[in-house]
Amino acid sequence: MLLDCAIIGGGPAGLSAALVVGRGRKQVIVFDDELPRNRVTQESHGFITNDGMTPFEIRQAGEADLQKYPNIKIKRNRIVDIQKKEESFTLLTHEGDAFEAKKIILATGLQDILPEIEGIHDVYGKTLFSCPFCDGWELKDKALALIAENQRALHMAKLLSNWTKDLIVFTNGHVLAEEDKALLTAHSIQVIDVPIVLIDHDNGQLRSLQLANGEIVRREGGFVASEFKQSAPFAEKLGCQMTQNGGIETDILGRTTVSGVFACGDNLGGPAQLVLAAAAGSQAGMGVIHELVQEKF
Ligand SMILES: Cc1cc2nc3c(=O)[nH]c(=O)nc-3n(C[C@H](O)[C@H](O)[C@H](O)COP(=O)(O)OP(=O)(O)OC[C@H]3O[C@@H](n4cnc5c(N)ncnc54)[C@H](O)[C@@H]3O)c2cc1C
Repeated sequence: MLLDCAIIGGGPAGLSAALVVGRGRKQVIVFDDELPRNRVTQESHGFITNDGMTPFEIRQAGEADLQKYPNIKIKRNRIVDIQKKEESFTLLTHEGDAFEAKKIILATGLQDILPEIEGIHDVYGKTLFSCPFCDGWELKDKALALIAENQRALHMAKLLSNWTKDLIVFTNGHVLAEEDKALLTAHSIQVIDVPIVLIDHDNGQLRSLQLANGEIVRREGGFVASEFKQSAPFAEKLGCQMTQNGGIETDILGRTTVSGVFACGDNLGGPAQLVLAAAAGSQAGMGVIHELVQEKF
């Protein structure tokens, strides 16, 4: 069967795209292998009407909305390859099944790359986070660490000063520009550039950072300026133009530079927020409908 649209990724971006494409009376399948970027968290914040829900609950509510539409299917499969043909795409699942679709929407998200520090994965998503807009409120006025090995240290520290006055920046052995350091110090934000050997915690509750010089610095939580990478290689493989920060280039309707390929959500490389991913999914869904209608009219 030739699908109108295949969506790879069933996070807020992919589910929202599916809702729009499905309500546009097209046959659509969402493929998802259940590894969203925020799977480590217990609560999601800032998504109006969903504030405080777990990522799993938000996903369940999204899937429940889609169940009303018989032309929308969700499959728990990892897509391992996508081939572009003249007027369609062939998608291959990990299990070896092939699906054919006129349009594809890449809603595959990003994955974080954390600094290599013992204990960091135990606290990430519990008391160490990457986005103050998502979790700053829960950590307000606490003694916080900002782990930032890159030049985002100054920007993140400035932002975090909105949520706490007790902040220490840990560069984990990396050198911060002297002027950045001076500016932070002038705002009572200490900068420690000794490498971190261990993050000590109690069941995910960050307690202290142990440094290479033996010092132990007590903290109650914190943020990390993590790096990220695309969760799936399809955009690059299909020849889509990428942005300077590794996102997928699209127009307002989610169209990439490759005909028939749409993208939405975190993988565009913009601010990472559930509500923005859902909005981008809606735009890409509209883009698909516009194109399918235009091609037939
Ligand atoms: C620790 C942490 C906490 C966060 N907290 C918040 C918060 O409180 N509020 C907020 O607004 N945002 C939060 N975010 C950001 C939020 O998680 C993202 O903005 C959002 O998940 C992006 O949605 P998405 O649909 O683009 O990608 P995702 O939610 O990551 O979904 C992508 C989906 O695609 C699937 N996928 C990828 N490749 C394939 C493939 N080849 N085949 C099949 N499926 C595939 C994945 O399994 C995944 O389910 C947080 C992020 C992190 C890391």
